[in-house]
Amino acid sequence: MLSIKNLHARVEDKTILKGLELEIKPGEVHAIMGPNGAGKSTLGYVLSGRPGYEVEQGSAELNGQNLFDMETEERARAGVFLAFQYPVEIPGVSNLEFLKASVDAARKARDEAPLSSAEFLKLARVACKQVNLPVEFLKRGVNEGFSGGEKKRNEIMQMILLEPTLCILDETDSGLDIDALKVVAEGVNSQRSEKRSFIVVTHYQRLLDYIKPDYVHVLSDGKIVKSGGPELAQELEAQGYSWLAKDPVAEVN
Ligand code: ADP
Ligand code: MG
Ligand code: MG
Repeated sequence: MLSIKNLHARVEDKTILKGLELEIKPGEVHAIMGPNGAGKSTLGYVLSGRPGYEVEQGSAELNGQNLFDMETEERARAGVFLAFQYPVEIPGVSNLEFLKASVDAARKARDEAPLSSAEFLKLARVACKQVNLPVEFLKRGVNEGFSGGEKKRNEIMQMILLEPTLCILDETDSGLDIDALKVVAEGVNSQRSEKRSFIVVTHYQRLLDYIKPDYVHVLSDGKIVKSGGPELAQELEAQGYSWLAKDPVAEVN
């Protein structure tokens, strides 16, 4: 599904990712943990093609296609979905319009017929229910005045509707109360399938009580420094990251 080899990437003049390797098979959920500043968000941005993030070396193949040969939009069409740590607001564009446009593009990329407005509205209402957002949220501006938890639920709703191939959730759990956390986890769990893979970036083991990952990786100073099963997350929760790092600076923030 996703094969990342020797990835070096920088932002401005600073190299952040320094030889990252990661292999994800279809249907797998990989959790990425690690100290602040390790490069976790950078990884999501580099994979999704955010401007300003430059690949220096290496490749990332999604089902055999190198993502780095593709424009940001093409990657989205190829099924890469990134849920941001800080979702953006788009005042003046209704959530429903925005979701419909995104889903139309995703369906087109998969050679599927477009949905009528009525068909889409039906799906969107079901998705709202699934993430516990009142349907009125479809009429509001994208994320406009949404609370932190509502933004995260909205992102999960978008993910459900888009049916991506590779879902990257960047600290989607940060700042969430336990109910919202469960909604995020249930959203992910409901979308797990043998055709879809997940990268779940999190600071806390807590989310992984609800989303059972197949693998847990520690990203430190731009590289994966340790990989294991779900038990690794528990170990990290108990001991922090310093026992893994060469420099004793890494701690959970
Ligand atoms: P994490 O998500 O693991 O906390 P990030 O990927 O956000 O880490 O950041 C990795 C490093 O890159 C940090 O040292 C951060 O300050 C730096 N960085 C991130 N974005 C930028 C940017 N736009 N300009 C300069 N440095 C950046
Ligand atoms: Mg961070
Ligand atoms: Mg981050």
